[in-house]
Parts: sequence; structure tokens; C-alpha cells
Amino acid sequence: MTAYEEHARPLLTIDLPAVADNTRLFVSRTAGEVMAVVKADGFGHGAVDVARSALASGAASLGVATIQEATALRAAGLPGPLLSWLNPVDAPFEDALRDDVELAVPSAAHLRAVIAAAGRTGLRATVHLHADVGMARDGAPHGTWAGLCKQARAAEECGDIAVRGVMGHLGWADDPSDPFNTAGRQAFVAAVATARRFGLRPSVRHLAATAATLTNPGSHFELCRIGAGLVGIDPSGSTRLRPAMTLTAPVVALRDVPAGTHVGYGHAYVTSRRTRLALLPVGYADGIPRSSSGRGCVLLHGRRCRVVGLVSMDQVVVEVGRLSVSPGEVATVFGPGDGGEPTAADWAGWSGTIEHEIVTGIGPRVARRVVGAHHQARQAVSA
Ligand SMILES: *Cc1c(COP(=O)(O)O)cnc(C)c1O
Repeated sequence: MTAYEEHARPLLTIDLPAVADNTRLFVSRTAGEVMAVVKADGFGHGAVDVARSALASGAASLGVATIQEATALRAAGLPGPLLSWLNPVDAPFEDALRDDVELAVPSAAHLRAVIAAAGRTGLRATVHLHADVGMARDGAPHGTWAGLCKQARAAEECGDIAVRGVMGHLGWADDPSDPFNTAGRQAFVAAVATARRFGLRPSVRHLAATAATLTNPGSHFELCRIGAGLVGIDPSGSTRLRPAMTLTAPVVALRDVPAGTHVGYGHAYVTSRRTRLALLPVGYADGIPRSSSGRGCVLLHGRRCRVVGLVSMDQVVVEVGRLSVSPGEVATVFGPGDGGEPTAADWAGWSGTIEHEIVTGIGPRVARRVVGAHHQARQAVSA
């Protein structure tokens, strides 16, 4: 990366040693195995890099939403068990089987499609039956579960599929005191019992994601699916993890303005005194939420400075007051927070959302730099 790329335009820095540390923490918290969930481009951090880092640090397998995400990981050379759980019934299941991608099955229609793909390819599909344990989102609704188990067992006997797992997902695990967690776990245990009654012998039961893994040991079973936690987000707020993303932007212009100056679109901010304004070339197209207008801050020249006026598509204006900022100085929009900079959690609070939406929302024009990839490659070689 040239000096221009590093200092003269917005830059997203991904800290893979932080991903490695977070992975090791989850591996230490469960007797079961850790599946590294790298959907949505590794929560915006780069799916391939996060996957490699997690596998080198003790994760046993990978998980993604779609088959397209899974086959992209295989194309990049990622080995090992890899599960895809969210696909339409006409998804490219044959591609999944050829790439040794395991498939979650939430309905009889999906099961038929997977069986057909197995027939066409001559490959046996490795399947995880997906039970809805109370979210009414993906997963088989309770009333369809027994029928799905029965049909899956029949397909196993024909040799088309092997049911390796049963999965569920908790919708309230960020609040460990929510009674729906207990009810969801009971529904999951009952779903596994039903599967066994129909003759299925799933070897991996998995229910917990990041928050449940950290707060609810009874939810671990044989495998925990960890996504947010790998990149430093703990929805339960119980555990200190290392955020793995830092967004910086250089000051491209400065101006001194008198009191009464209208800044940006729509009279949203009028200066109340003589002050200095700094322009940063990042806007809502780059992931700065427009809904944070009037609240966001960046770290510039060692100080927290407020973003004033409305966030534009390509730029924001920061009020620096009397700080002697120079053009080219780099502002930290967010980072781990160790140096006084705002965090993704701060931006989530300023814009009424969650950290996940901040880190997955960084736009494609922001340059990216990955720190620690070499270290990780050496570790993998010597392991
Ligand atoms: C995204 C997702 C996960 C990972 O959840 P985190 O809270 O980010 O760890 C696990 N399971 C399913 C089904 C998911 O969609």
C-alpha cells in the first residue's frame, strides 16, 4: 500500500490478532467446538481473513448464511467443515455438494431440493436439521418438525443424506434473564429428542451464538456458532473482547468561519461563535450513519471533536474549535477505544442501531488494510 493510500484517504484497518485473541477466548469458554461464523464478509472484516485467523486460533469449522458465501470461501482455499444455513429452495445445492458444504435444512421442500441435488451429483449431502425454537424466523416451525425428521430419516436410509446436526437459534440471548432463553432451550432439547425418536443420530447439537456462549453454558451442547464475538462485539455486554476494526479519514480541508455560519445541508447546524471546521471525506455511502447527525464525534488532534450538520453522502464536517489541526491530519472515526477514539458501539448509540450494523455497513470505496495476516500465516505453517 502506498503512502497515499495509507494517509490520504479513508482507510479501514482490520486487526487480525484481535480476531485471533477473541477466537481463543471462545475456545476456552466451551467444552464443545467453535464454529467461526463469517457471513456478510466476516461481519464486514473480510470473510477469508477472519476465517483463516479463526481456524488458526482454534475454531473447528466455518459457518455462513448462503451457499454463495460458502463456495467463495472454498474458492479462496479454506478447508474443513463449512455450513450454510439460509438458502431458498432453488439455491445451487449441487455447487454446495461439490464443494463439500454442509447444509441446514429448515423445511420438507428444502429437503427435497437437497435430495434431488444429491441424486444429480451422486454425492451424499451432510445436513443439519434446523428447528425454530421460538423466533418465528428461519428454521422449521414446531408443527412441521416431526414430519421433517421422518422424511430426513427416510432419505438417510436411501443414502442421499446424512444428518450430522440439529441446530436452533435464540432470539433473546443478549438478555440472559429473559425467560424465552429457557423456553428456547427446552424447545431445542425436545426437537433433538424427536429427531432421535425417528432414528436420527445427530452428533452435533448447536444452539448458542456469541451472547449465549458467554452467558449461558447450558446452551453450548457440542458446538457454538460465533460471529459477532470474533470481531469483538458482545451483544450481552458481559465480556471484554477486542474490536477488530478501525476507520480513519484524513482532513482534506479546513476553514475558519464566523458565528452564524450555516454548515452543510438544510440549516441543520449554525455556528454560535467564531470557529474552525475540518472536512473529512467520509459520508453515509462509506458507513457513517446519517441518523447520527448532530451526535457523532471523531478523535482528531488528540481530542474528541463533534461532527456538525447533516452527514452527507461523501463527507462530514467536524468542528475543531481552536485546535491547530493541519490538512492531512488523520481523524479516527472509530476503533477499539483504547486511544480515546469513539467505538463502533458509540456510533451505534448515536444512530439508534447496534454495532453489527456499523461494522457491516462500511462502503466499498473505503480502502482496506489488514494487519497481522503474515503472523497468522506463520502460525498456521508451524502448527
Ligand atoms: C449470525 C448467526 C450466528 C452468529 O451469531 P453471533 O451473535 O453474531 O455470534 C449464529 N447462528 C445463526 C443462525 C446466525 O444467523
